[in-house]
Amino acid sequence: MSTIFSKIVEGELAADIVYRDDRVTAFRDINPAAPTHILIVPNREIPTVNDLADEDEALAGHMLLVARDLAKSEGIAESGYRLIINCNRDGNQEVFHLHLHLLGGRPLGGMVKRT
Ligand code: AMP
Repeated sequence: MSTIFSKIVEGELAADIVYRDDRVTAFRDINPAAPTHILIVPNREIPTVNDLADEDEALAGHMLLVARDLAKSEGIAESGYRLIINCNRDGNQEVFHLHLHLLGGRPLGGMVKRT
C-alpha cells in the first residue's frame, strides 16, 4: 500500500512541488499552518522516525539540509522558522510516510501547548 506522499513522489497525485532530487521531494502542505509550510519527504517510503535505519543517517541529514536551503529560498531563514517531525499517536502523526515540516513566515509562538 503506498501512501499519499508516495503518490506525490511518483507523480500520481498533484502537489505544489518546490524541490526534488534522487533522495527527497519537498512540496507545499495542502492545509498550511503558516505562510510557508513545506513538507520534505524521503522518496523511499519510511513510515516514521522509528523506522529510520542506521544506514539512513545521511538521508536524515540531507532532509535537514534541504530544509535549510528551502528556508533561505522562501526568505524565512533570518526571520526564523520551525522544523517538526511528528511520530505516531502522541505526536499526532497523520500520514505514515516520514516528513519534515518546515514552517515560517509569521511568529509561531510557544513550541507545544502546555495542558
Ligand atoms: P502529520 O500530522 O505530521 O502526519 O502531517 C501531515 C500533513 O500532511 C498535514 O499537515 C496535512 O495538511 C498534509 N497533507 C495531507 N495530504 C496532503 C497532500 N495531498 N498534499 C500536501 N499536504 C498534504
